[in-house]
Amino acid sequence: MNDDEIATRKMQFLFALRSKGVTEPRVLEAMEKIDRGGFIKGLFAERAYEDMPLPIACGQTISQPSVVALMTQALDVQPRDKVLEVGTGSGYQAAILSQLARRVYTVDRHSRLVREAREIFEALDLSNITAFTADGSFGLLDQAPFDRIIVTAAAEDPPPPLLAQLKIGGIMVLPVGQSDHVQSLIRVTRNDGGFEYEELRPVRFVPLLEGVGRES
Ligand code: SAH
Repeated sequence: MNDDEIATRKMQFLFALRSKGVTEPRVLEAMEKIDRGGFIKGLFAERAYEDMPLPIACGQTISQPSVVALMTQALDVQPRDKVLEVGTGSGYQAAILSQLARRVYTVDRHSRLVREAREIFEALDLSNITAFTADGSFGLLDQAPFDRIIVTAAAEDPPPPLLAQLKIGGIMVLPVGQSDHVQSLIRVTRNDGGFEYEELRPVRFVPLLEGVGRES
């Protein structure tokens, strides 16, 4: 691809986001600034600006850009927020969040993905992201509570430790349902009296698995 082709594809990319309901200017700005092409290696790199999920290492996927943007929009991130992401994957979603939040913690069960994402964060100078290898279904007790939590792998129900690590007034966005089925993207808001649940749209994510991966 030459520079002109890349510029055209990027324009189409932003147009596709708008047509799918991404309207929040700060989210669109972040999606414009962070180049998805930097998070995809090898054969699929030239499809980075298409609105589709693509394979990454460890048998995982980088989510569809419109889903990344719609989840980010639903999360309603504020500039002072401390955010937890479960499921670092390529690091793309964390990079988008880093443009909107004060601090982003992201965890993945595969150490290789965490290592590769850290290298990208460093190269892009995204110094407000910290990535760890951990089973994110337990959250990140050291840094809890969080203003916002986003889970990018599907559990059958919201993991109780994540609900517990959400601040009062906080918001969590996550897919729920069985991994081989269409799942529901839901938004959980914690208020004084408890939790409010809202169903947003059907989605498909890889499963939230227990423990950390065995590879080095
Ligand atoms: N947000 C990513 C896409 C994530 S794909 C991106 O922007 O590219 C889902 C990721 O969740 C996978 O990398 C998978 O390893 C991770 N995952 C699954 N179960 C997990 C768990 N219990 N704790 C942490 N990460 C988990």
